[in-house]
Amino acid sequence: MRVKQAPVNHGRKNLAAAMLSIVLVCLSWTVSAAETRYQVDLSERNMQQVTIEARFTEVTGDTLDFHLPVWRSGLYLVLDFVGTVSGLEVSDENGEPLAFEQTAKSSWRVSRPDAGSGDVVVRYRVYADSLTDRTRHVNADHAFLNPAAVFVYADQFRDLPVDLTLDLPEGWQAASGMEQPDPGRFVAPHYDRLVDSPIEAGTFDLVSFEAAGMNIDFLIDGIWDGDEERLIEDMSALVTATAEVFADANRGLPTDYYLFMLHSGDGLGGGTEYYNSTVVHTDPRAFWDDDRWQGFLGLMAHEFFHTWNVKRFRPASIDRYDYQNINYTELLWVAEGLTSYYDQLLPVRAGLIPVGEYREQLAGAISSVVDAPGYSQDTLARASLEAWTKGYHRGADRAADKRNRTISFYSQGGLLGLVLDMEIRRTSNGDRSLDTVMTSLYDDFPLGSGGFTYADFRERLAAAGDDALAEQLDGWVYDTQPLPLADALQSVGWVLDREDTSENPVQVSLDVSLRGNPPVVFSPRLDGAAWQAGINAGDELIALNGVRIGSNLDALLRRYSPGDEVEFSLFRDGQLKTVPVTLNRVRADHELEVDEDASEEARGVRADWLGGMEEEEESDE
Ligand SMILES: [Zn+2]
Repeated sequence: MRVKQAPVNHGRKNLAAAMLSIVLVCLSWTVSAAETRYQVDLSERNMQQVTIEARFTEVTGDTLDFHLPVWRSGLYLVLDFVGTVSGLEVSDENGEPLAFEQTAKSSWRVSRPDAGSGDVVVRYRVYADSLTDRTRHVNADHAFLNPAAVFVYADQFRDLPVDLTLDLPEGWQAASGMEQPDPGRFVAPHYDRLVDSPIEAGTFDLVSFEAAGMNIDFLIDGIWDGDEERLIEDMSALVTATAEVFADANRGLPTDYYLFMLHSGDGLGGGTEYYNSTVVHTDPRAFWDDDRWQGFLGLMAHEFFHTWNVKRFRPASIDRYDYQNINYTELLWVAEGLTSYYDQLLPVRAGLIPVGEYREQLAGAISSVVDAPGYSQDTLARASLEAWTKGYHRGADRAADKRNRTISFYSQGGLLGLVLDMEIRRTSNGDRSLDTVMTSLYDDFPLGSGGFTYADFRERLAAAGDDALAEQLDGWVYDTQPLPLADALQSVGWVLDREDTSENPVQVSLDVSLRGNPPVVFSPRLDGAAWQAGINAGDELIALNGVRIGSNLDALLRRYSPGDEVEFSLFRDGQLKTVPVTLNRVRADHELEVDEDASEEARGVRADWLGGMEEEEESDE
């Protein structure tokens, strides 16, 4: 929280000077006071409603166009927030109603008959009950407002200052990445910064500390274990390890203040990056379970890394967001994929996750990527371009198909990051790394300067590595060229292989993802046993060769060998059917082992890469 921090300082010691400065401020306002002022009325929070007044000051011209965004940054999906807006009315500065019409799904045009300079005041109600997509959630306990989902903007005011006041209920406080000159009042240089600064109000906990030269606030709304010491220690290590990636940057730190905004509640997860803050969700079990805590730290690493990658430099086509349309880019594998690479690596460098654990994470990621049917069909560039209609889309009509036809630019982009990092280290004899490329993007493409293209990225990759690597990149991004993962890992003395499954009790597979009990088919794998047999998404599996399945499918499958033909009884659309299935051999996952005979050179590269962290010696005890 940034209550009454510099530069606003009410100098009561010298009243005359204070009066003079107020006069000067007023004078400068009269020169150009056009801005957007928002007033947020939380008096109906118990009903999950919030009333917004947006005042566009000193409007000129006979019309004013204003809009509500149709998406919010970080979630590349059209959400049409307008669907929970109601009671919209428009007036002038005297409260006289102004005529307006809706010109598109989230756009309106106000008529101004006298066309002289004056205010346009827009009032509307927002129903705010959507926490899991991190857009807007208001109730008796708190108010979370993601500005893109709540605040309208006018075209001609987008680049003008914003002044926003929340009518805070008794005992509440407010926080945001924006400057807060008075409790509940926020100012931003323009609308783009406002929408990049979510707001939380309520009775949250706030843990403040300093790390890597930044003042950090960690806000927690909801259930938590109160272990401030562990939180500060682990977050400080993570923040420091992240800043270290960009240690050679000419631009220095991206911000001197950062806010982690955490909502902790049953079943919550995920996070979104903003200009100098993040909104992160966790299930409170993360505080009591070490595995979940590690996942929590990975999420924090991911969002914090975005402060550079996406929030300080981003692809050219999304450098300035279009709030009314899909924003196409082929480069989400840089934005999300390389961030995913670092979100696994940085907790290791920070000493928060053991090296052996990281090895296992990588092996798991490799299986999920290279064994996905999409690996041989979809490309990173196309998956990025189609993120809005496939990757992030929540339609039930495509959920099963996505798994068969698309790739994840998060996980596959992350493994591409691994390959690039290893190749740069190899070709530069350890002088440079992927950190070098990320740092040059940070230095060369400040936000708002146009953003970077694929060619820009490729050029910096060639400079850090070599031309051959840049040429290979084309095949990994625009084609389905397999990633040389085994070679990359060999260069740090790790051996990639398939697990030996000969001793596993179950040797056969239906090649299907299942949910529930009795199991319901979520997605039959392309060309797998269930797919070939015509088992569909939504089929409820009842019996295997006449024996009830219930929660015992694995146990029942132990009786069979690859190639066996069995009969499944299933419900489809309420009708009982029987389907013969020829069982496949189960697919072995990957494993990543330490090569005890690795060269000194490989050990050296590994030490550099992992920030000097070493694997704990295996113990026979
Ligand atoms: Zn991300």
